[in-house]
Amino acid sequence: MKTKQYPFLDLARLNAPYLDEMKAAACRVIDSGRYIGGEEVTAFENELAEYVGTRYAVGVSNGLDALRLIFRAYLERGDLIKSDVVAVPANTYIATALAATDNGLKVRAFSALDCFNFDNDFAISFLEKGVKVLLPVHLYGRTCWGEGFDRRKEKGDLIIVEDNAQAIGATTADGRRTGSLGHVAAISFYPTKNLGAVGDAGAVTTDDAELAEIVRAIANYGSDRRYHNIYDGLNCRLDPIQAAMLRVKLRHLDEENARRQVTADVYCQNIGNKHIVLPKNDGRSVWHQFVVKVRGDRDGFRRYLADNGVGTDVHYPTPFYEQPCYECDPFIARYLTQQETSELCRSIVSLPIAHVSPQDALEIAEIINRYNP
Ligand SMILES: *Cc1c(COP(=O)(O)O)cnc(C)c1O
Repeated sequence: MKTKQYPFLDLARLNAPYLDEMKAAACRVIDSGRYIGGEEVTAFENELAEYVGTRYAVGVSNGLDALRLIFRAYLERGDLIKSDVVAVPANTYIATALAATDNGLKVRAFSALDCFNFDNDFAISFLEKGVKVLLPVHLYGRTCWGEGFDRRKEKGDLIIVEDNAQAIGATTADGRRTGSLGHVAAISFYPTKNLGAVGDAGAVTTDDAELAEIVRAIANYGSDRRYHNIYDGLNCRLDPIQAAMLRVKLRHLDEENARRQVTADVYCQNIGNKHIVLPKNDGRSVWHQFVVKVRGDRDGFRRYLADNGVGTDVHYPTPFYEQPCYECDPFIARYLTQQETSELCRSIVSLPIAHVSPQDALEIAEIINRYNP
């Protein structure tokens, strides 16, 4: 008998429920004759700002560009100067760091603790180490924010940039959404993200009107009006077709995130294996990934799951500071208990979550419970 398959991620399947709406929206853009900027982009920006809870949203080309534009804007305004230090969690995706180093800023990695992320005590110790920007990443869809961060923001001596690529819809304990917590945030709509486009797309969200305008100008050749260039800018605009796709999917985002929560609940209530450590489930994550830690042979566990039809992935197998492009930069890893993050990278596995039904989650849990190396 052929083993039942539980693919890790099937994007077509993820979009299938919205196909008719998406096709109609794409046709609307093609029929409109407006292929750069325009109504569709503006409408999406307004809906996104409203959803996240900020005054402004600027649609851009992708998540990395959103972060790059944020740093460029702070440099242009004089809030940052080249070689200022940006603190990032050691286990983030490399894009977080690339955006800073691309702008001539220095990156310092801080250990990922407990919930795979910064903790508050770490945030408090940042200033002593000459850090100008704190960059919490809501990794795996889990809000990375605490009272310590609010106090720091109020104090006004640190710029807080959220990397909200993985967590749109996630909240703090008092109900604020990620993307509205720091001074500014970057979102990615890469197709695998919880709010995914059908290509590259991203956005910047903020309450800072001036910063939003600078980002918008830099993303459009540095021009504040037609044929008038005040910055040596870039072309990082959001495509109207993607804006139209995202408007459709934003309307369904809360349902999608709620579905992921149900699957996560089934996993958390039914996986019981002494070799597997489950993530914290506080009901506020949007479960971009469902990441477990394996005590022992991680790759053996992945092979076992693959043999039983369960697709998995690893986010991420190598810490960014160990990548060849950063390897010879001792500055980045200075305060790191390197072993901690390297070990974390070797012990984590992402289980399927995006389109797993409660019944399938139960079956996957049973497969995991039979794992006995
Ligand atoms: C996906 C992602 C990015 C980059 O977004 P792109 O749209 O792929 O450029 C940045 N940071 C994190 C944490 C991400 O997961």
